[in-house]
Amino acid sequence: MEGTLIEAIDFSVSIGASRLLTRLSFRSEGPEPLVVVGESGAGKSTLARALAGIAPGRTAGTLRVGGLDLATAGEAALLAWRGRRASIVFQDVHGALNPQHTLIEQVAEPLRLHRAVSRRNARHAAADLLESFGLAAPLHGRHPAQCSGGQLQRALLAMALASSPDLLVLDEPTSALDPSTRALVLARLRTEALRRRLVVVTHDIDLARALGGRVLVLYGGGAMESGPTELVLSSPRHPYTRGLLRAWPREGGKDLQGIPGSYEERAVGCPFANRCCQRVARCDEDRPTPDGNGVACHRGGIVTVLAAHDLHKTLGGRPILQGVSLEVQSGETVAIVGESGTGKSTLARILVGLQRPEAGTLATPGIDSAGGGGRNGRGGIAYVPQNAAGSVAGHFSVFDVVAEPLVIQGDGDGGTLPATVRRALADVRLPTADAFLERCARSLSGGELQRLAIARALILEPALLVADEPTAALDASVQAKVLRLLLDLQEARGLALLMITHDLPVARRMADRILVLANSQAALEATPIDPLPTHPNNAYHRDGETCPRN
Ligand code: SF4
Repeated sequence: MEGTLIEAIDFSVSIGASRLLTRLSFRSEGPEPLVVVGESGAGKSTLARALAGIAPGRTAGTLRVGGLDLATAGEAALLAWRGRRASIVFQDVHGALNPQHTLIEQVAEPLRLHRAVSRRNARHAAADLLESFGLAAPLHGRHPAQCSGGQLQRALLAMALASSPDLLVLDEPTSALDPSTRALVLARLRTEALRRRLVVVTHDIDLARALGGRVLVLYGGGAMESGPTELVLSSPRHPYTRGLLRAWPREGGKDLQGIPGSYEERAVGCPFANRCCQRVARCDEDRPTPDGNGVACHRGGIVTVLAAHDLHKTLGGRPILQGVSLEVQSGETVAIVGESGTGKSTLARILVGLQRPEAGTLATPGIDSAGGGGRNGRGGIAYVPQNAAGSVAGHFSVFDVVAEPLVIQGDGDGGTLPATVRRALADVRLPTADAFLERCARSLSGGELQRLAIARALILEPALLVADEPTAALDASVQAKVLRLLLDLQEARGLALLMITHDLPVARRMADRILVLANSQAALEATPIDPLPTHPNNAYHRDGETCPRN
C-alpha cells in the first residue's frame, strides 16, 4: 500500500437529513492497529464500511487511506479498492457467507477472482488459511448452516485474508468466539497488524486493550478522543471515554454514573452535551473539534473540580492533618476512609470552606471556569454533615431546611421556591405534600433526616457533594437505601461525590478511587476492586481482600 496513513478530515456520511458520521477527524499511521470503540449507534460500523469503500450514504470531507481519498474517489476506483485492496468482515457472521457453497469454496474464491490463482492452488491456499484459524480439514467441506457462529467468524477472517488486502477492517471480530479460540484469533490479528493496516471496530474494551495500537472513541457520529490505546484506556481524558470504561463490567461494573440520560441527536453543539456532567453554555452552541491531545471538548477534557495540596492543620497543638493532598474530578466518586480521629471530618470541613488550613492550598479550577456562583454558590460545593439531626435548627420546618441555601443565596424569590423545594424532596424520595413540608424537621426519623440533608445540599445543583459519614448512624436497610439514593442522584445529575467514611466496604461499593487517611496523613490510594496496598499507616489492609461493589 502506498503509505500506511489513515486520515479523516471533517469526514461526514449522511443519508438524507440524518448524519451517521459528522465532521470526523483523526489520524493513524502504521504499523499499529486502529481500534474504534463506542456504544451502539456511535458510527463505528459506518466508519468501517466507509474504510472498505462501501459508505452507506453520501460522503463529504476527506477519508484518506494510503494514497486514496475514499470520500471523493469515483466508482471505478472504489470498485478496485474493495475488490483487491481492502477486505471487511461484518459483525453478522450468519448472513455474510453464501449458504450454497462450502467454506473452502468461499475462502478460495477471492484468490481466484483477485489474485488469478488456479482453482487447485486456490483450494490448497484456502485449506491452509482455514487451518491457520483452527478449522481442521473435516470442516472445510461444510456449508455455513452446518457451522457454529465461532466457526463462521473464523472462516470469514480466513476469507478476508485470502486476497492479501492492504487494509483489513473487522467489525466485532471476536464476538462469537470462545476464550481459547479468541486467544488464537487475537494472536493472529496482532501478526496481521504488522503486515497490513488493521482496523478493528468493537465495543469490547478487553479486545481494544489486548490489541493496543491506537484507539478512536466515537460518540454520536463524532470523535470524542483518540490516542495510544494503552494511554487512553488507562487515563481517559474525555468524560464520555471515562463513562464508557466505567460501564464495562470488568472495569468495576459501576452503572453509567457520570453519564445521565441517553443519546440524543443534536444538530448543534457537542453531541455529548445532554449527558455531560461538566457542560457549560458553549457546549450547546459549538461543536468541539479534537485538540492537540486528540480530545474533543471545549473544557479540554475532564476537569478537576477540587484540588487540595499539602494541607496542614493542628488542634490544641496536636497535628490533625499533615501534608494531605487530593484531587476530585468532575463526575467521579472519591472515598476517604480512615479510623476515628484520623482527621477525616476536619478535612471535609476544610474542603467545603468551614475551616481554614494552617498551610497548603485549595483550588476549585473546574468550578471557577464553569462561570457559576463560585465555590459556595450554585454549581459549587455542597456539604452533607455527619450529624444530620444536629445540623438542623430546632424550630425549622422541612420546607425551611431545604429552602435555606436558596434564601441565603438570594435565590428564593419569584414564587418558584415551593416548587423547587418539592422537586428537591422528590429527588431524594421524600413526601412533597404540604403536611410534610410543614413538619418540624427534628421530628423526622434518622433515615428521613439524612435524605433531607441531601435534598438541602443538592438544591443549589452543586458540581461536588461532600458527604461526611452519610450512613454512619443508620441501620443496615436504611443505609443501603441512602447509598443507592446517592448513586442514583450521581447518575442522574453527574455530580462529583467526595465521601468520608470509616467503612471500607461502603467505600468500595461507592467509589472510583479510595484514599486512606491514617495518622493524619494520606497513606495510600487504591481502586475499589483491588486489595489495598500494604502500608505501615494503613489499618485497613487485609491481604488479598477484594470486596465487590454490590
Ligand atoms: S464539557 Fe462540553 S464539550 Fe466537553 S464533553 Fe462536555 S458537553 Fe462536550
